Amino acid sequence: MNNKVKLLNRQSSLEFLTNLSNKLGPKIYIKRDDESGRGGGGNKLRKYERIIADAINKKADTLIIAGHFQSNAARALVGAACQLGLKSIVVCKAMIPEQNPTFNQNGNALLMKLMNANIITIDAEDDFQIEMEKIADNVNKKGNKAYLIPFGGSNLLGALGYLDCANEIIDQFQNAEKTMPDYVITPTGSGGTMAGLVAGFAIAKNSTKVIGFSVLHKDQTIENIVNKLTNEIIENVKPKFDTITDFELNTKFVGEAYGVPTENGIKAIKMLAELEGLFLCPVYTSKAMAGLIEYIKENKIKKDETIVFIHTGGMPLVHAYYNQYE
Ligand SMILES: *Cc1c(COP(=O)(O)O)cnc(C)c1O
Repeated sequence: MNNKVKLLNRQSSLEFLTNLSNKLGPKIYIKRDDESGRGGGGNKLRKYERIIADAINKKADTLIIAGHFQSNAARALVGAACQLGLKSIVVCKAMIPEQNPTFNQNGNALLMKLMNANIITIDAEDDFQIEMEKIADNVNKKGNKAYLIPFGGSNLLGALGYLDCANEIIDQFQNAEKTMPDYVITPTGSGGTMAGLVAGFAIAKNSTKVIGFSVLHKDQTIENIVNKLTNEIIENVKPKFDTITDFELNTKFVGEAYGVPTENGIKAIKMLAELEGLFLCPVYTSKAMAGLIEYIKENKIKKDETIVFIHTGGMPLVHAYYNQYE
């Protein structure tokens, strides 16, 4: 039994952002988790390596995921399923107000269409879990075997993918004979990315502090989720390991709601594009970058400190929100 399927071809690169660092002060690196893998890549692939292996070990052939028309998680899952010769079903409902007339056809929706994704649309009031279970029953009745992907891929198996990422970062800094970063910055949605990173640096007894900028929850919920999942990872990887996990979760940069761009997020998108030729998306990475810029302005992060910003992907969203950059 394999506990991981291979969805990533190599370590993602760690790049120094010369122009952004010169502009803002601190030394800023970017971890390019946007760059690798099928189906358009992004942070979900690290999570799916163990989740899909679990599905295969359980003899499942049909992966079912909840999402919306612009879901990176759904798009990446469909891509991984194509690559591995598995079936997939996306249970879709509108979760983001339509940003323009082609919002539900462009970006991730377009890529899913090209991959011939099996999309089942449910009503906005319908409960994802109940609908997914119904669909799974039908799949099983037909002689196939369904497997439900956890929300955002953020269960223990998924989050372990970001423990891998923390180890990769440590490895990359060590190989370059550089001192470890003071901060790792990530957007936080369902929490698995952040929990994996927090656990990874804690287990390595590394003083790097992970700061997550929420893009979904506006309250304590997300901190509780990350806390619980981090402890679960540590318990699983290093039982009885006694450590304090020191992370920070900021919920002030969500803006109006999940999927609704913010003014300083849009500014951050333009800044990164102009200075570095890098693209952030309006839903995730731009809100985290807006948070980082604010922290530097407020001197919460100092000019002589070193930062790694996790580029979690989401390039298709740049297109889906084409009319939001004025
Ligand atoms: C899903 C996603 C996130 C959030 O990751 P979580 O593990 O759910 O917190 C961040 N950025 C992008 C581009 C994503 O697709």
